[in-house]
Amino acid sequence: MSLSQLFNSGKRVLSFELFPPKTDQAVVDLMKTVEELDRYQPDFYTCTYGAGGSTRDRTLSITRDVRKTFGKPVASHLTCVGSTKDQLRDYLRSAAEAGVDYIVALRGDPPKGDTEFKPVPGGLRYANELVELIRAEFPQFGIAVAGYPEVHQEAPNAEVDLQNLVRKVNAGANIIVTQLFYDNADFFRFRDKCVAAGITIPIIPGLLPVLSLAQVQRIASLCKAGLPEAFVAKLSENDSPEWQFQVGVEHASAQAQELIKHGVPGIHFYVLNKSLATSMILDSLA
Ligand SMILES: Cc1cc2nc3c(=O)[nH]c(=O)nc-3n(C[C@H](O)[C@H](O)[C@H](O)COP(=O)(O)OP(=O)(O)OC[C@H]3O[C@@H](n4cnc5c(N)ncnc54)[C@H](O)[C@@H]3O)c2cc1C
Repeated sequence: MSLSQLFNSGKRVLSFELFPPKTDQAVVDLMKTVEELDRYQPDFYTCTYGAGGSTRDRTLSITRDVRKTFGKPVASHLTCVGSTKDQLRDYLRSAAEAGVDYIVALRGDPPKGDTEFKPVPGGLRYANELVELIRAEFPQFGIAVAGYPEVHQEAPNAEVDLQNLVRKVNAGANIIVTQLFYDNADFFRFRDKCVAAGITIPIIPGLLPVLSLAQVQRIASLCKAGLPEAFVAKLSENDSPEWQFQVGVEHASAQAQELIKHGVPGIHFYVLNKSLATSMILDSLA
């Protein structure tokens, strides 16, 4: 089923994001995790693409294995970092051969040590250019792009960031998946602005259930996501890992419930190759 058909089917779409593990044992563990997650009948899985293509082969092999074993559509993330257009085309051809259904088309972050993104000679500068390339040359792929409820770190302001998102949509993206956020007000504000800017494709909130205070602080600082004071205060009440895990699950469950109440077309879980927190959240919604 195409991405557009999936989101027009009237059901709330569920997707899980995995990352390619580094060892054979971790691949075995990941497949067990996916088996547990598959009970929730997700509509598709996605697998991230490591900095500069470092996970190229592992991303493809995970998407291929998940598709084969669980029979669900799979999306490969793909970034422009360190690749010429021809290398991106090679990857897209391999992805098509591996049975990949959708591409999460991204620019990617500057390589470690660089403060600014610089395309390689013959490469692409922004994600909208990657969307254009895929639309023109690989029309079989559904395309998801990234959206930033709290504004992308490099954008001078929300308006400019939004116009850049419109560029990705006009280039042919089918859906927008958002960066993680912990305050739904940020998502609702972003969604309203997208609609006012004429964006009509589905906007899917991305949720990352946090497992500890240290983890949420690290991730929030990397992604520049705001942390509601009450949430941090609750996490800080007790050092025990069990307590912090439970607080993280409750926060994400409350976020998901409110998002559903406000009619989101789907939820994308950054599951980080673990099933327990996401399972508990989905059980709480049942
Ligand atoms: C759902 C999701 C999945 C992700 N998966 C991965 C992954 O697998 N691997 C990975 O390395 N990273 C991943 N990322 C992180 C992402 O690569 C970074 O956030 C990156 O810094 C921006 O990528 P982008 O595709 O949003 O870039 P772009 O949309 O190109 O935007 C980058 C910056 O440039 C600006 N901009 C865009 N177009 C233009 C233009 N035409 N002119 C001027 N300015 C412009 C934007 O406002 C923004 O500030 C993911 C992020 C999300 C939200």
